[in-house]
Amino acid sequence: MALFGTVHWKGTSGRRMVSFTFDDGPHPVNTPRLLDILAAHGATATFFMTGANVARFPELVRDVAARGHEIGCHSFNHCRNRTMFAIPGRQMQEIRATNALIERATGKAVTLYRPPHGLVSPLLLPVCWRLSLKIVLWNLNSYDFRHEHDSVVVARIKKRLADGAILLFHECHHRDATIDYSYTARALDQVLAQCRSANLESVTVSRLLGLEGGCL
Ligand SMILES: [Zn+2]
Repeated sequence: MALFGTVHWKGTSGRRMVSFTFDDGPHPVNTPRLLDILAAHGATATFFMTGANVARFPELVRDVAARGHEIGCHSFNHCRNRTMFAIPGRQMQEIRATNALIERATGKAVTLYRPPHGLVSPLLLPVCWRLSLKIVLWNLNSYDFRHEHDSVVVARIKKRLADGAILLFHECHHRDATIDYSYTARALDQVLAQCRSANLESVTVSRLLGLEGGCL
């Protein structure tokens, strides 16, 4: 992996910062709900969006960016096989198409990529390198896609919440947007309160990793 750059799972400790990341959106019900909770806690976050959903809801994409959050690419269609086995040219085409949609909505260049399911194939690394994209995974999974009560999600995170963490949540389900994700919002509210108690600031991934300003 070193040949084509680094895959980031977490930030350095000692800066009292963590990053909340939200995958698979935007979503017309869940995204505004998450934005309100983040605003109530004075937190910023990073949203990894799919091109298909960005094309559907560009006004939500604009709103997320306007509120100071960061938007990264999460493929166009969230297809596992394309992520793992597609020829680099095809992967590049899909990522470029998604980034173009995000950039059209926000006016900002996309610098981060998170592959669907967190699958990093050897074919992906040179593609991201060519596109000047940093690959971002996570080291603290909320497992919110298991549809457990928010208290279970909160307890799971509380055990492992630490300086430098990158937390994984979801805006919606990548295949079925009708699945209820209101418990993610309830869990987020409680985990952000935990962060405040632990003196951990919630920032974008680029800020956590010190990539702001000139990583391209
Ligand atoms: Zn995803």
